[in-house]
Amino acid sequence: MAKRSTTKRDGMMTVQQFRASFGNEQQCGEQLSRQRWPEGFKCPRCGGPSRGYMAVRQVHECALCAYQCSVTAGTIFHKTRTPLGSWFWAIYRMSHDKKGISAMQLAKEIGISYPTAWLMLHKIRKAMSDRDQHYRLSGLVEVDEGYVGGEEHGEGRRGRGTRGVRTKSVVAVAVEHRGPGKPGKKPVPGFAALEVIPDAATETLEKFLADKVKPGSHILSDGWHSYRRLKQKGFEHTATAISRQNDPAHVLFPWVHITLSNLKRFLLGTHHKVEQKHLKHYVAEFNYRLNRRTMEPDLMVRLLRACICTQTITYKQLVAMPEQA
Ligand SMILES: [Zn+2]
Repeated sequence: MAKRSTTKRDGMMTVQQFRASFGNEQQCGEQLSRQRWPEGFKCPRCGGPSRGYMAVRQVHECALCAYQCSVTAGTIFHKTRTPLGSWFWAIYRMSHDKKGISAMQLAKEIGISYPTAWLMLHKIRKAMSDRDQHYRLSGLVEVDEGYVGGEEHGEGRRGRGTRGVRTKSVVAVAVEHRGPGKPGKKPVPGFAALEVIPDAATETLEKFLADKVKPGSHILSDGWHSYRRLKQKGFEHTATAISRQNDPAHVLFPWVHITLSNLKRFLLGTHHKVEQKHLKHYVAEFNYRLNRRTMEPDLMVRLLRACICTQTITYKQLVAMPEQA
């Protein structure tokens, strides 16, 4: 494992605390058990208590009928040959580091192969994505889209069919306004929703907003024609025309622009180059962490819970995923 700061900051779990809590397979399995069965293990066959957790087989054995119940079945850890301790370290790094962790770095830190690290991180990303699937933004919501990834050429500010930017992907972004904050202060950003979309057409953007924003919310957008029917779709809507001189987009819609530029920085900084096909998983990871940036003491346990609640995905399923699903 890499040398990292072990000073406690902002209530975050330190590396020392991590090692003390999840330093061996027994501890990791017991943590999974606590989160899966908060009231204590109950045998699914007879309701009996556990004779104890057996780390070697990752099972609880029922004290009454001797049934062995896997603690990893139905989770992203199911049938893994990687020790739970390595998984926990990956989850710790993914939840605590603002920039996440690359497969290359993870492979180095815990001494596993690059493909294994790559698959682990994608399984965790799937758990992150599943967790955020049903959340809806509400209130005042800024929306916009932008191009991400690929070659930097062409005008292509917004992914609206500009020539010469075909290698980039379109990402739709919606960010809630919280507060008016303090008098004279600007609103602060609330929850955000990001999604890779095939284009910036009317139907595409309407579907994005229907999936991610509660009906009746007030959408703030620029004058792009794809947003023109939002009032018919059950939203309040204020469209403000962008003029380069007076009201540039980043002034009128600050939070979607900051969010998009942070997403680009995350993709470039941590992952250098992301295949278009997998971009949506990285966007889901970024979105997950962004929405939990203020929940620091719980980050690890929350992400563990997401991993426990998600069926695993195989390498075959991952590489077979269509580019735009
Ligand atoms: Zn039993």
